[in-house]
Amino acid sequence: MTGIRRILAVLATLLVIVPAWADSSRDIRELLDETGAVLEWDDFGRTGLIWSGLDSIGFTPGEPVAVLDFADLIRIEPVVYDHGRLLVPDATFDVFAERLRQGGATRTIREVKAIVIDAGHGGHDGGASRSVTENGSTVVIMEKEIVLDLAIRVASELTSILNGPEIVLSRDTDVFLELDERTEIAHSLRDDPLDNVLFVSIHANASGLQWTDARGVEIYYLPATHRRQVLESETTISLDPAVSSILNDLKEEEFTVESVLMGQYVLESINRQIPETPVERGIRPASFFVVREARMPSILIETGFVNNREEVALLRSTDYRQRMSHAIALGIAAYVHDFEHMQ
Ligand SMILES: [Zn+2]
Repeated sequence: MTGIRRILAVLATLLVIVPAWADSSRDIRELLDETGAVLEWDDFGRTGLIWSGLDSIGFTPGEPVAVLDFADLIRIEPVVYDHGRLLVPDATFDVFAERLRQGGATRTIREVKAIVIDAGHGGHDGGASRSVTENGSTVVIMEKEIVLDLAIRVASELTSILNGPEIVLSRDTDVFLELDERTEIAHSLRDDPLDNVLFVSIHANASGLQWTDARGVEIYYLPATHRRQVLESETTISLDPAVSSILNDLKEEEFTVESVLMGQYVLESINRQIPETPVERGIRPASFFVVREARMPSILIETGFVNNREEVALLRSTDYRQRMSHAIALGIAAYVHDFEHMQ
């Protein structure tokens, strides 16, 4: 047994043990002061994440388990939520403090197993489009063609920069794929539910039907408030619903943090490699796009506006698309490097 199955088997044996209530407890703020860790409290999901660097301890008040680094479960005396205060029983306090002080001495190496580069749209779905007149004839510029070329270039760049992860295109021809087919490709690359797979969808913007002054790159990620069923359903089916919901919330939180980080790396890289293209539109939360179903760190990159005159001219130039692809690939590669090494 590996990964989550092993954890869940252990968990199943833990849950039948009724935890003893602690005689005394201390405010969680004492723990934070003592260890320099920070608390991320999700009042909606009633879930806490204590961060020390990239190490984390996840817990839900009243539950007899904590999750270390989103992977390993340990039995604890439950944290108590009392009129806005989080009270940590002494025994749990010691376990948490030790864990946070040792700074992840027991860390495991995280490897990115695969990266899916998804060219948006395709086939009958052209995406954003714009007609231009050239030498007396009308040419229709379609997002699906621009982003397919970009995606193929990004994948090829990544293959030459990164040795480890498998690089997979969701489509390499002009075919239509349903949204769930795109994410299914990513999910199928996992042998284990805990394998790290990244999902990067490439698009081009349009703003209304007229020519626009809007231009620049923007990146979307899925906000943590948008709860998904992150864990594979077959791994949670035998769990106490409360526990599977904690695991799910924590995994969701991790994917959101990782998605924002990956977005920052890519945006920074584009800013450095292509300084003339504005990136101020930044990284934004959105719950409408394909990554909604992606149970993994995932971003959607809008590479420019097809209805901005200057930008569409750039996006039509092979040289610019190559530079953009190179910048995106460098950003993803830098993120993968830090994801695997800076733990
Ligand atoms: Zn699009």
